[in-house]
Amino acid sequence: MITTRFAPSPTGYLHIGGLRTSLFSWLWARKNEGQFLLRIEDTDLARNSEDAVAAILKAFDWVGMSYDGEALFQSKRFDVYAKYIEQLLEEGKAYKCYMSKDELTALREEQMAKGERTRYDGRYRDFTGTPPEGVEPVIRIKAPQEGMITFNDGVKGEINIAASEVDDFVIARAGGVPTYNFVVAIDDAQMGLTDVIRGDDHLYNTPKQLVVYEALGFKIPNFYHVAMINNEQGKKLSKRDGATDVMEYKTLGYLPEALLNFLVRLGWSHGDQEIFSVEEMIELFDPKDINKSSSNYNLDKLLWLNAHYIKNMEHDKLAELLVEYGVDIRTHEKKDLILNATKERGKTLVELASQINLILNAPTEYNAKNFKKAFKEDTPEILNTFMNLLKEAELNEVADYHKVMEAVVEQKEIGFGKIGMPLRVVLLGSMTGSGLDEIMAILGVDETIKRINRAIELINA
Ligand code: GLU
Repeated sequence: MITTRFAPSPTGYLHIGGLRTSLFSWLWARKNEGQFLLRIEDTDLARNSEDAVAAILKAFDWVGMSYDGEALFQSKRFDVYAKYIEQLLEEGKAYKCYMSKDELTALREEQMAKGERTRYDGRYRDFTGTPPEGVEPVIRIKAPQEGMITFNDGVKGEINIAASEVDDFVIARAGGVPTYNFVVAIDDAQMGLTDVIRGDDHLYNTPKQLVVYEALGFKIPNFYHVAMINNEQGKKLSKRDGATDVMEYKTLGYLPEALLNFLVRLGWSHGDQEIFSVEEMIELFDPKDINKSSSNYNLDKLLWLNAHYIKNMEHDKLAELLVEYGVDIRTHEKKDLILNATKERGKTLVELASQINLILNAPTEYNAKNFKKAFKEDTPEILNTFMNLLKEAELNEVADYHKVMEAVVEQKEIGFGKIGMPLRVVLLGSMTGSGLDEIMAILGVDETIKRINRAIELINA
């Protein structure tokens, strides 16, 4: 069985980079009908991990991802880690190191002065003497002193690290608190992970974790280290490049379908296909197709995908989603007409809501510049003719409204703009927006006439 996991450090919200690696892990587990587990890495941080878990779950829920079983908290597993430390000490695979901070600093300085890489020199590795007074020891693990630490990364290929690069690192601090690479290896092994998919900022933690696997005789999982997401300039993605909190994308009016589709393509591809439903992602995802190089965040692409999913969404569902954005047309008799008229113009739900509001809410004021541009001396006369024809017309469909505008154009021997422009300003208070015939079909004759009359009154006043 395939078992994957997401192991966030509780920093408060789910970052899009974290969502991408967890999406990869989730897809791989779901594809194989395996397990996707959640582990909260909260040993180092004093933050409230309950809030962080809630924030992660909220984001998972929004995008439709779920994990299996109970979330595992590292902070609740200190006894497990202590047991393994004890075992390693007993087996002589780890040892107490009494080196003081000052000694360590002196060693570092000496190594740096010689232009050497700073590393612990193993001075307590085989120590059998009397420990110095007043130093509480740290526990160090015995790392191999010769040869290579090698593993096959599913993305990067074979990774070879000289053993000399990995020193006898600390697995428990003075006072007994276990360290990061130690607990990660234990948890991954105990949780039965078969595939560890994570950011490549962890690539050089892996050799250390392998030392722990080796010492404890754990089975080594497959590792996949995914290149970071960069901004459009190829630099590390930061808040300045756009939202990094997953839930902020919801606020901005993105659909989870679009965000997942966007993220899956940041670092993974299937031919040159761009649009993937979640079902398709599950069917097609394979970590062996994760791209080696880092991928660039591109907001235009996300907008394009979002527009695609909005355009193709069922109207009932779209209407449901719009409620949170301040538009409730769930029971509106012209729901389909409204959405057909606006959804091409709304790349986000925020934009869509604003396009709909533009039509449904009569303008309360008119921009003087628009007014001046659209209203000429003959405009009231043209609009009056239009209203008269409209009252008499048989209006069954959108095109019928267009016919009335054409009739005015013919009768008055004017260009289309002479009716179109003022009508748009009068109805919407804006120079842009959906098609006029669609707008009028949504408003109906009475409301259309009411808005025209109000504007004419305003000019006369
Ligand atoms: N807790 C780590 C992080 O949030 C992830 C560790 C891992 O995936 O191994 O970056």
